[in-house]
Amino acid sequence: MNAELAEVTATMRGRGEWEHRRFFPPGPKLALCLSGAESTLADLSETELVEVAAAARRQTAWAQARELAAIAELARRRARDEQDDHPDYRILSAHESVVEEVAAALSLTSESAATQVHLAERLHTDLPETRCALEAGQIDLPKVRAISDLTDHLPADVTATVEEAVVERASEQTTGQLRRRIRRIVQRLAPEQLERRKREAIAGRRLEVWETPDGTADLSLRDLAAADAHAIHNKITAMAHTLRQDGDVRTLDQLRADLAHQLLRGTPLPEVARAVQVEHTEPSATAAPEPTTASGPREHDTASVLADVIDARLTQVTEHARMQGRLNGLSARLQLAVRDIDEQLATVRDALCAAADHRHIGYRPPAAMRKVIEDRHPVCVFPSCNRRSNRCDLDHTTPWREQDGKGRTCPCNLAPLCRRHHRTKQTSGWALFQPWPGLLIWITPAGTWHIVHPERHLE
Ligand SMILES: [Zn+2]
Ligand SMILES: [Zn+2]
Repeated sequence: MNAELAEVTATMRGRGEWEHRRFFPPGPKLALCLSGAESTLADLSETELVEVAAAARRQTAWAQARELAAIAELARRRARDEQDDHPDYRILSAHESVVEEVAAALSLTSESAATQVHLAERLHTDLPETRCALEAGQIDLPKVRAISDLTDHLPADVTATVEEAVVERASEQTTGQLRRRIRRIVQRLAPEQLERRKREAIAGRRLEVWETPDGTADLSLRDLAAADAHAIHNKITAMAHTLRQDGDVRTLDQLRADLAHQLLRGTPLPEVARAVQVEHTEPSATAAPEPTTASGPREHDTASVLADVIDARLTQVTEHARMQGRLNGLSARLQLAVRDIDEQLATVRDALCAAADHRHIGYRPPAAMRKVIEDRHPVCVFPSCNRRSNRCDLDHTTPWREQDGKGRTCPCNLAPLCRRHHRTKQTSGWALFQPWPGLLIWITPAGTWHIVHPERHLE
């Protein structure tokens, strides 16, 4: 018997801590088994380490099911409370408001939060078995997403049939296998739905560009008809092969990228190959421009001290409410607390504002003031928003009123808000304060808060 086999046999015979825990269901007990210092892992066999990894994944699925259940419950309550007889388009709907709350709480973009809320709602209406399988740790979140995504907009009976057919085996399949299986079943049960989905996707075809963490940019043609995309790829690949045969040392990937680049810049096809060769021998030496940094005044030190004070105060208010068992209506109490701090600061803030002599008479801030605000907040001041401030409105945090000097047009009372988060601010339960120039405090309907500092940069 060789050494490897001996080890396997010994492991199988051994009575390790993790034996019989392969199907241990997730929940508080499994959490206890999984907790403990990292050093305890050193005592486990390799088989047991794999079991621990699998168990931790089951536990993660369980926790994700809890997260989605909480979101679904919040969405359900808000929808129930909404009076929908006269929808007001100046404010967010109950559903949109929940999306923004989730975005702020989980640090997600509005789009990701909307996806998360939608998934939570689907699990609690159309996909009960999928929800149970996630909570039991049998399938993970990517598989849940696959099931939800591919059954979205299907008739209810088809969704139910698909779910029943795929959930059980999903635990042994990869996400890719699961997707293909669902597609086959839908193709059989509702082929016209798949066809419609494809048409809708093609109607949404687009060219996208986004910056990468390496300082490069990706350019992508999205949702073309599959035949068109393959035809383009094949043609460029064939040209790249020809260049390689002629002795070009670049990789196939590099050549495909360089050829596509030339074609998209409008170089006629016959000249592309030549252009690509010339370009390669004379690399362009355009230096990237130095990024400009906004250097703000010292007032930011004060802002960060104030942020700590406000955070401590709001924590205190929350703890107090929790002890009294009065967490409902917390949002209003937090707003009161911030308003209080805001009033305490009014005298010193007004004196600084007068000394700076930067107020503007009239509603619309002049260009120079706009620049100051945009340097201070290069993006919308909602905590998870990345919309550039030069594409936002400058919002008067306290609404503009000329007569009594309230809500004045000056850097003490302006901040960039994109259209969506402008509506968020107007929605009942939400509040936004600017107790110090550039320091913004959001209070959400559920009674949490988010502090946005000056000089918040694009991330
Ligand atoms: Zn001012
Ligand atoms: Zn925004």
